[in-house]
Amino acid sequence: AFARSGSVHLFNRAKAVFPDGTTRVTVERDPFPTYARRGEGAYLVDVDGNRFLDLNNNFTTLIHGHGFAPVSEVVVGLLNSGTCFANPTEHEIGLAELLTARIPAMERVRFVNSGTEAVMFAIKAARAFTGRPAIARIEGAYHGAYDWAEAGQSVSPGNSGWDQFPVAIPAYRGAPQSVIDDVHLLRFNDADGLERRLSAVRDRVACVLIDPMPSRAGLMSPDPAFVAALSETATKYGILIVADEVLNLRQGYAGASARYGLKPDLITAGKIIGGGFPIGAIGGREEVMRVFGAEDVRPLLPQGGTFSANPISMAAGRVAMEALTPEVFDRLEAMGNRVRDGLRASIVRRDAPLSVTGAASLFRIHPTRIAPTEYRDAYLRAEGAGLMRRLSRHFLESGILLPYAAAACLSTAMVDSDIERVLSAFDDFLNTEIQSGKG
Ligand code: PMP
Repeated sequence: AFARSGSVHLFNRAKAVFPDGTTRVTVERDPFPTYARRGEGAYLVDVDGNRFLDLNNNFTTLIHGHGFAPVSEVVVGLLNSGTCFANPTEHEIGLAELLTARIPAMERVRFVNSGTEAVMFAIKAARAFTGRPAIARIEGAYHGAYDWAEAGQSVSPGNSGWDQFPVAIPAYRGAPQSVIDDVHLLRFNDADGLERRLSAVRDRVACVLIDPMPSRAGLMSPDPAFVAALSETATKYGILIVADEVLNLRQGYAGASARYGLKPDLITAGKIIGGGFPIGAIGGREEVMRVFGAEDVRPLLPQGGTFSANPISMAAGRVAMEALTPEVFDRLEAMGNRVRDGLRASIVRRDAPLSVTGAASLFRIHPTRIAPTEYRDAYLRAEGAGLMRRLSRHFLESGILLPYAAAACLSTAMVDSDIERVLSAFDDFLNTEIQSGKG
């Protein structure tokens, strides 16, 4: 048992002002959240003075961990000279030059303030370019809160259509039926289903929205045959491919699509490209991105935003990204391999009903013996959810923040001893489970 009274006290105050006591549904609580006081590199210190190795890094945003000095310096330097203007600044050009030079699918780019907004504008851009209203997206994947991007995210075995093609369901009560009518769900890694599904709706579908390694759906690798079939089918029907790399851009110097051979028409980014400040980006082929530009008087797709391309996010993002050289990505990849291999070795040694997915600096532990290849394999059954909650609590008590329903990630601030800590906490957990007869 360790001190938690500070977090308990704050949660009680919070319950009086926030519905459910938090401002984000994604905040983990068991039964109350851990309130952060400050971050120090790979570590987070909570209000009770406990130090945790942070494997969440604000949902994979902080690829350099907390308080990365080059970012702090540039931001502190800017604070006294104005934090946002109606005028453009040089900072936005700098970040755009870096991204377009690295990411093949980003010939042109526009900045916004979040991943949700980036996905929203990418979908709108695909519609404006094709003149079609509907989208297709992957069952179980998370793309933020734009209505069409979120419809269908909670399909579960209880819903009709489970045995055939997944059916989009409203993301919340009262959501317009017209939204659901224009969302077509695809199964990840189902190369055969793609053609059957898309051919039926080809004249209405503007784009396939796809995260190359959808984290919420299970952080599974894309099958090369699926990637090839997607390109072929999309090209055949004039459907654009929108790669949502808000999370997975961190998989490499050129991003995730480049890594997996996917050639998107549009690509979204967020998280790491803001250096810890709010950001989103829509990039893509020059021809498609032209929808944002003025033709005659008005662009096909007007896009603004009070805080879009604010100089703090632009400058912070640029220095954070500049520090991510190919060598640094290699180091992250090697650390990621050590974690995944080490976790799998423990699972085999203890004969535990768990599996591990992920790539580069990302990993996710599943309460299934066989690693999932699509959402249907990965969804958490009741007993699986209990096991994952016990795992996450064991990590918390071992001084490690491990997200239990999302991707865990490493940062450049981590060192070998941090990796060892993760592996030994995991092995301890499996040992405890076996001894208590639950494994
Ligand atoms: N797309 C993906 C793939 C994401 O992982 C997320 C956030 N986890 C979003 C979109 C939404 O981004 P934001 O939270 O910045 O709105």
